Amino acid sequence: RDLVSPEPENDEQTIEAALRPKRLDEFIGQARVREQLSLVLESALRRNRPPDHVLMSGGPGLGKTTLAMIIAAELGAPLRVTSGPALERAGDLAAILSTLSEGEVLFIDEIHRMARPAEEMLYLAMEDFRVDIIVGKGPGATSIPLDIAPFTLVGATTRAGLLPAPLRDRFGFTAHMDFYHASELEQVLNRSARLLSVDLPDEGAHEIARRSRGTPRIANRLLRRVRDFSEVRAEGVITREIASAALNLYEVDAEGLDRLDRAVLGVLLRKFGGGPVGLSTLAVAVGEEPETVEVVAEPFLVRQGLIARTPRGRVATASAWAHLGLTPPPDAFG
Ligand code: ATP
Repeated sequence: RDLVSPEPENDEQTIEAALRPKRLDEFIGQARVREQLSLVLESALRRNRPPDHVLMSGGPGLGKTTLAMIIAAELGAPLRVTSGPALERAGDLAAILSTLSEGEVLFIDEIHRMARPAEEMLYLAMEDFRVDIIVGKGPGATSIPLDIAPFTLVGATTRAGLLPAPLRDRFGFTAHMDFYHASELEQVLNRSARLLSVDLPDEGAHEIARRSRGTPRIANRLLRRVRDFSEVRAEGVITREIASAALNLYEVDAEGLDRLDRAVLGVLLRKFGGGPVGLSTLAVAVGEEPETVEVVAEPFLVRQGLIARTPRGRVATASAWAHLGLTPPPDAFG
């Protein structure tokens, strides 16, 4: 994978676990989400009842798994983790639901990718803490209702809009996770540097933060690469120049765009004259799934003001042409 891909690398999970904030007050940024969530949790604790089900939406690497773990920790409840793609049959979900203990937090990552029968079972479980187990097949099949322990579902999805409305409506609270500001990523980097015993001066933190695509996972990853570089080539000192040289070496550009971001921009400008062009056409042209382009590359490019979504498709802005050092056609902007 590319260095700035927001998906975790294979051996990255252990490091991530070590760097994860464990409590809400250690969680950096997302101030609104933090405040909303702390109210939901505190009132549940006071009433001594499991809180409403929580949906978290946001791109990869923004802290959804971290928040799910924090919710369980703050409630002092056990956490069960699964993911939408693992729930292929209703039985897969029934096996989990029927063994939950009272108050347990069930985290379903990529909840929008759950199979339909499992999804329908989840509706009833969320609403009535009950599942209907179907025994037998055909006309002789009977359904046996089974009570399950009151639990809290925490679902994560890259976009709340991907969820069917009946499922979305059963969550009492939706946390929208956005890209982090560079100043928040600096705090993430300083915390990680402390935990990894890396000496990170402010100027180095600043340079890494601003090139981390607004994403804590990427910030932590770039920190480790810059540390490697500085240890081998610069006696471990992470100056702005060293951070910048290391990031250039790893093909993270001055605005933090990665290979996919640049490929999407490049195709949009060079092949389609700046657009408008449809998402699936763009995806085919860069050899990626439309979902990857839509969930991973596009939100960041839009946030950076490099592309805009219009009813007729994606269009490049003047900054996009400038970013790639290209001259727009004379009629490009009307
Ligand atoms: P995915 O959906 O791809 O699994 P995610 O949104 O669940 O991603 P996490 O796995 O929670 O992301 O976070 C990725 C890494 O970023 C973790 O190592 C975590 O330590 C760090 N991180 C995320 N959010 C924060 C934060 N607010 N403060 C400090 N570190 C954070």
